[in-house]
Amino acid sequence: MIVMEASATAEQIAAVVDEIKSCGLKADICRWDYQTVIGPIGDEKRLPFALLETFPGVKEARVTDMPYKLISQEYSGFSGKDGHRRAIQIGKVVVGDDEPVFIAGPCAVESQSQLFRIAEGVKKAGAHILRGGVFKPRSSVHSFQGLGGEDWQKAEEVLKWLSDAGQQFDMPVITEVRGEAQLDLLAEYVDILQIGARNMYDQDLLAAAARKKKPVLLKRHFGAGVEELLSLAEYIAAEGNKDIILCERGIVPVGKGKNYTRYMLDLAAVPVIKKETYLPVIVDPSHATGRRDLIFNMSCAAVAAGANGLMIEVHYDPGQALVDGKQMITPEELKGVIAACRNISELVAAKGS
Ligand code: PEP
Ligand code: MN
Repeated sequence: MIVMEASATAEQIAAVVDEIKSCGLKADICRWDYQTVIGPIGDEKRLPFALLETFPGVKEARVTDMPYKLISQEYSGFSGKDGHRRAIQIGKVVVGDDEPVFIAGPCAVESQSQLFRIAEGVKKAGAHILRGGVFKPRSSVHSFQGLGGEDWQKAEEVLKWLSDAGQQFDMPVITEVRGEAQLDLLAEYVDILQIGARNMYDQDLLAAAARKKKPVLLKRHFGAGVEELLSLAEYIAAEGNKDIILCERGIVPVGKGKNYTRYMLDLAAVPVIKKETYLPVIVDPSHATGRRDLIFNMSCAAVAAGANGLMIEVHYDPGQALVDGKQMITPEELKGVIAACRNISELVAAKGS
């Protein structure tokens, strides 16, 4: 990466970028409050670092041999105690500051009335962002694919419900984009694009979603290590979009015999990710456990681990939900989770000061 002097001019920055481009690489320009950093995208070995260091306005030019440099703490150049944190503004909501953010709603939108009733419930419980699946990633083609799976017209109708519910209850909305073909339509209606665990490795989808210039929530694949998650998130950053929220949602459990949880929640990943990157990280205890009786405890634990927020599946009648009923909690229960998490977050912040 190339760190510019605080006084570097636009021409000096442009000269460095031109040199990088002439070597066949792309360049990311990041203007932080306290310095401008230029991150070459591509094979850094092709760059003349010694020469670059002599360019006017360059403070330092160094090889950064890591797969996720653009989202790394190092790239931010911040050396404070807890590292730099990127706060992502989504409407009136900020993800990545000291307050945990709660994303809640149904696994799948089932009807307009179901969505509005849940939206009202989660808002009253204290949620900030409304979720609702329109295109569901299902293992079987015979399972309910989400209402968006019916046809394109239906998908648009459901997305309008989602956007209307968000407006009525004053919450930004998020839904999963299951493939590139859905991107244009979804980006018209939602505030955050969710890339699900199964698509974490789809580089083209990640890059295309990034180009929509909306925040992207990237879920960790259940078989991926933290380094892989961060390396794939770099594909979003490389498009110039650093509004990335990472989400730990459980990895494949180990051991023979019955697994008592759907996945294994890797909570240590939360502080690890916060040490490695400046991006906010949230936890999804719903998919991680698959059990509504564990949501309260694991939500508290996630906030204690430093999570910047939670994504929780909610239904007023979980037994009747078309998808993931076993892991859904009611709006009333969500209220208790949010209250407890707020207390824990304050305790954790006080200890850190
Ligand atoms: C979801 O959040 O709706 C979902 C399917 O989660 P994941 O991609 O983590 O399985
Ligand atoms: Mn679900």
